[in-house]
Amino acid sequence: MPNMQQPAERPIYLDYHATTPVDPRVAAAVLDAMITEFGNANSVEHLYGEVAARLVEDARFEVANLVSAEPEGVHFTSGSTEAIQLALAHALATHKRPLRVALTTVEHRALLDRVVDHERGGDIALSWLPVDQFARLDLDALEKTCQEGVDLVCVMAANNEVGTIYPIEAVNSIAAKAGASILVDATQAAGRIPLDALSLGITYLTISAHKIYGPKGIGALIVPPELHIRPDHGRIAGTGDGTPNVSGIVGLGEACRLRRLEMDFDEPRIANQRNTLEKLLHDSVECLATNGDPKNRLSGNLHISVPGVPNDVIVTKLRHLVALSTGAACSSGAQTRSHVLMAMRLPEAIQVGALRIGLGKFTTDEEIDLAATYISQASRAAQRSSDVWRQ
Ligand code: PLP
Repeated sequence: MPNMQQPAERPIYLDYHATTPVDPRVAAAVLDAMITEFGNANSVEHLYGEVAARLVEDARFEVANLVSAEPEGVHFTSGSTEAIQLALAHALATHKRPLRVALTTVEHRALLDRVVDHERGGDIALSWLPVDQFARLDLDALEKTCQEGVDLVCVMAANNEVGTIYPIEAVNSIAAKAGASILVDATQAAGRIPLDALSLGITYLTISAHKIYGPKGIGALIVPPELHIRPDHGRIAGTGDGTPNVSGIVGLGEACRLRRLEMDFDEPRIANQRNTLEKLLHDSVECLATNGDPKNRLSGNLHISVPGVPNDVIVTKLRHLVALSTGAACSSGAQTRSHVLMAMRLPEAIQVGALRIGLGKFTTDEEIDLAATYISQASRAAQRSSDVWRQ
């Protein structure tokens, strides 16, 4: 494994849910596609274009392979947000309006906001699928909703805040009985847990390179090959009329290839580091809570709360020491309350003090020890100065 040790003055990076550092082997493949194999994949009348077109097809194969899908069903996009939009556009174009959508309350904003916009516009009739305090899906509620009539069921493969992993096989068998399609946002799960798109019967699956040690700005929508996604369903980078983003596509393909080969080795080690950090923090910070499903969460996820202590106080104290997050990347900048924690109906004090820690394959044991010290010191200091703890 390449040495990713950061210079001493840089904070320890523990925000792998937001994005991941690019694997140097992926970067090397991207660089090669930019500098050496720079051809236009649409200009196949000469060797440069031919090689570029072949690189795109090789990448398509690797993307499909990671999630056990068919290469013909891989449509490159600029990331998961665009893949989600493309999936919705296809579902809307192939069903009568309003499209009946069942959506978990903890989906990423990239999907949730889009669906709510369509609902306001009258194109979608929306049913919410509730979760419990561990963010686990209520399968009985899903079954009931499906019996009432649904065209599209949207359940993410794993949650980007609390890491809870969803039972896609069970979801699909319920959705299939109702004749519904299924949209699985696998942005956080792909390359971390095994996913078998074909045998699970997933209609739309989305992935993004920058969550799996690849470059930003490239992802894919993966569908069964018989589903015809056409450019007029939305913009399709790489398969539309424009020049394909060959270097990005190569980066996505290489990232997928490496995840397929190394996930089984990396993930248990990451889970051990997470467990160590969790224990060290619980041993040193009074009243600390862990959120999410303790039995079924992503190996790199540690979502904790220092009850009643505003999370931005702790994040600010840690600014130069540890990079972690108060929640989903998009909502942390705006400091809005997490819709995921609200959907889990966690007590106010737990929501206020929530911190999302994300470990990845470049996290070292030394970083875990240091981070435990820094986070617990910052948490205890914040507790001492917090109103809740002074009463
Ligand atoms: N879905 C989930 C679960 C995510 O975590 C993210 C990114 O944070 C997205 C979708 C959006 O992905 P992208 O950044 O590739 O548009």
